[in-house]
This record gives sequence, structure tokens and C-alpha cells, in this order.
Amino acid sequence: TYVVTDNCIMCKYTDCVEVCPVDCFYEGENTLVIHPDECIDCGVCEPECPADAIRPDTEPNMDSWVEFNRKYSEQW
Ligand code: SF4
Repeated sequence: TYVVTDNCIMCKYTDCVEVCPVDCFYEGENTLVIHPDECIDCGVCEPECPADAIRPDTEPNMDSWVEFNRKYSEQW
């Protein structure tokens, strides 16, 4: 899965939301989040993010970001 990380805080761009083929972006408190179970790992959103906030969970130390994204996407 891909996840939204700290560079997204207070970012107002929604370029990522517009390109996601499965609409798995949700609104968190100060960020957007990606539902980790709905993301199909296509990678299309990553280069669209002007803040470079979208990262694959295969990078090191991403577990807490996966949980953060899950927590805020599941409140909808
Ligand atoms: Fe959506 Fe693809 Fe980005 Fe996952 S990787 S959030 S499916 S655009």
C-alpha cells in the first residue's frame, strides 16, 4: 500500500485524490489519508503529490504511518 506521511500536514492540494482509480483517499484531521486495504498499489498518486508526502509502505519505518492512515480512513 501507499500511505500519506507528514509532508501532507496542512497541504491543500488534492491532485492525488483526482488520479486515484479506486477513490481510497479520505480526509483526516490535518491531512488526507489512504485506506491501506483499499489501495491497489498502483503508484499513480505518488508523482502527483506536490508535497512529496505519499510513500510506499515498503520504505523503512512506515508501520506507524500505515496505522495513522488506517485510523483516519476508517472513521468514514
Ligand atoms: Fe490510489 Fe494508486 Fe495511490 Fe493507492 S497507489 S492511493 S490506489 S492512486
